[in-house]
Amino acid sequence: MAEKAANGVFFCEVCTARYAGAGDCAACDGEPLLDLRNADVVEMIRSFDEQRWKKRLGQFTGLAAVIVIPTVVVFNLLMGAATGKVLGLIPNMVLAGFGVSAFSGGLIAVMPPKKRLPAMLP
Ligand SMILES: [Zn+2]
Repeated sequence: MAEKAANGVFFCEVCTARYAGAGDCAACDGEPLLDLRNADVVEMIRSFDEQRWKKRLGQFTGLAAVIVIPTVVVFNLLMGAATGKVLGLIPNMVLAGFGVSAFSGGLIAVMPPKKRLPAMLP
């Protein structure tokens, strides 16, 4: 079992613990430690971070659509009832698109996925 070290060269991608020596993570069952001196390994961890970011943005975009699109529909109904006119399809799509991207962008700014790649590399 490897010894933990704050700025160790070996890294567990699951729990982000760092170790001085190679081996498996003591906390994560059978998880092999990655050598942070290897540029390919660092690139792989970076790409995992990116995938987690994209996955979360996708989830937030879905959530934003569920909230924003009905809001746009209700807005149209109210406007139609009040003025007898409704927005055309294109303005509605632009409005919904802006709403969804603003909403999901706001969510990911407040709740980004945790980055696992250490800021301080050996
Ligand atoms: Zn671990």
